Amino acid sequence: MAKNKHITPLNKEFKWDNWKKVGEKVEEKAWTWQNIRKGSAGGTDWVEQQIYYDMLYTFRLGALSPYSKALLEGKLLGTKCPKCGDITFPPRVNCWNLDCRLQKTEWVEIPKKGKIDAWTVCGFAAKSALKKLPFVLAYVRLGESKTAVANILKIDEPWQTEIGMPIVVKMAPKDKRVGNLIDFWFEPDKSWKPSPMTPEKERIKKLCQPVIEWVKTL
Ligand SMILES: [Zn+2]
Repeated sequence: MAKNKHITPLNKEFKWDNWKKVGEKVEEKAWTWQNIRKGSAGGTDWVEQQIYYDMLYTFRLGALSPYSKALLEGKLLGTKCPKCGDITFPPRVNCWNLDCRLQKTEWVEIPKKGKIDAWTVCGFAAKSALKKLPFVLAYVRLGESKTAVANILKIDEPWQTEIGMPIVVKMAPKDKRVGNLIDFWFEPDKSWKPSPMTPEKERIKKLCQPVIEWVKTL
């Protein structure tokens, strides 16, 4: 399957001379090229991807390909170890627990709810994300997962973000999904209300103001 096929080093018509022009065309939005080929890893087809996001990234997902294909269907797939029961998202082919001796994991669907473990406000970014500044990058443990996944938290006032706050996962519309992490983001759960302002929140708010003003000029 070739989806949104563009000029890339894996395509025969690729010319390095055209590369700069391609980069200039792409500003706010990533493009992707992807190919699903027959493979033997985990009895599934392998997914290969190239994504241009200020730089060209090449992915060969191998045994983790079901994760990518599930994203295209709007689902989050993580893994569970049949020996110790540990669930991880993003997925792992083999259990991380040393006692499990690289036990092969099984696929499980991950709920689209979680809690923030750690977060930061980004005050500068690569070209494709400049107009989103200042944005929150949050590490979230989804469902019962023992590992956290980093992604953007869409929140009106970044300084209100809190460790432990409940979030929900929002998926990009079907026609915009590319089978990669950029297919989803976090938003505060409807049940969450920000706590009163503190000196630390005031400090972060003050740091955000010049960024907000600068982005208006872009
Ligand atoms: Zn295990």
